[in-house]
Amino acid sequence: SIPLGYFGGIGSASRRGILVKGASFLDALPALHTVVFDKTGTLTRGVFRVSRVVPYNGFTPEELLYTAAAAELYSNHPIAQSIREAWGSEISPDQVKDYHEIPGHGIRAVVKGRQVLAGNDRLLHREGIVHEVCSVEGTGVHVVIDGTFAGYIVIADEVKPDAGEAVARLKELGVKRIVMLTGDEEAVARRVARDLGIDAYFAELLPEDKVAKVEELEASLPDRRRQKLAFVGDGINDAPVITRADVGVAMGGLGSDAAIEAADVVLMEDAPSRLADAIEIARYTGLIVR
Ligand code: ADP
Ligand code: MG
Repeated sequence: SIPLGYFGGIGSASRRGILVKGASFLDALPALHTVVFDKTGTLTRGVFRVSRVVPYNGFTPEELLYTAAAAELYSNHPIAQSIREAWGSEISPDQVKDYHEIPGHGIRAVVKGRQVLAGNDRLLHREGIVHEVCSVEGTGVHVVIDGTFAGYIVIADEVKPDAGEAVARLKELGVKRIVMLTGDEEAVARRVARDLGIDAYFAELLPEDKVAKVEELEASLPDRRRQKLAFVGDGINDAPVITRADVGVAMGGLGSDAAIEAADVVLMEDAPSRLADAIEIARYTGLIVR
């Protein structure tokens, strides 16, 4: 049976917007050695804003932005939302056909009868398209229309106001290693990790690479039997990683149903420092139970 004190712990956690699925995670939280954060939507707001539209090969900025926004019509990725917002007008669904979202890459679709790719370098390489490499501030979404490089859109994201505090408090609470995983570009990842005081980061990962990385980090825990690893994600492309980690944490805000289902701990508020609160509550509960 579950000691009564655990119910108190689960109750006080839920009053602070932290849902813990089962008492065993109250034991696991104080034993966290490594906390792995997904970057986009977890440490950063995941509210991207288009900061630059750079057309190539005779395309107009309008054409480039419209085509990208239409290609992204059905995507719930924060990047897609920002491009649709920058376009700002209605897009008729009958202009968009053969829509495919390729996780960790971008979109392939037919817009107004033209073959469109909108995504990162990796997407273009995968589709065999060679283009000029452009160094960008922020994440670049490259657009190809009927095989011609039509330009790129620069999208900037912001670090969440409490992300630095989250990292600092987790360290104070004895977490030894704080890691960030992202599918985003190396340069963007480096800047975010440095700003937040994160110990290690791995960039340009595909969703399945994130699972492998978490397995690798778990295997490298100095005391695998006692020490635990948590993965914190927003549920966009990372539900399998949430499932795989010792303690899978989903952040409420953007989180998909699949992620909330997969998670052991759900943070209702879109704030990474809530994980530090969860550890504190779990510790306190453990003291009462013992
Ligand atoms: P993260 O690991 O930062 O949460 P994702 O795995 O969701 O990022 O995506 C990784 C990268 O794949 C993005 O930075 C972007 O370059 C590209 N990408 C993914 N989805 C889309 C999309 N709908 N439109 C354009 N690019 C996308
Ligand atoms: Mg993500």
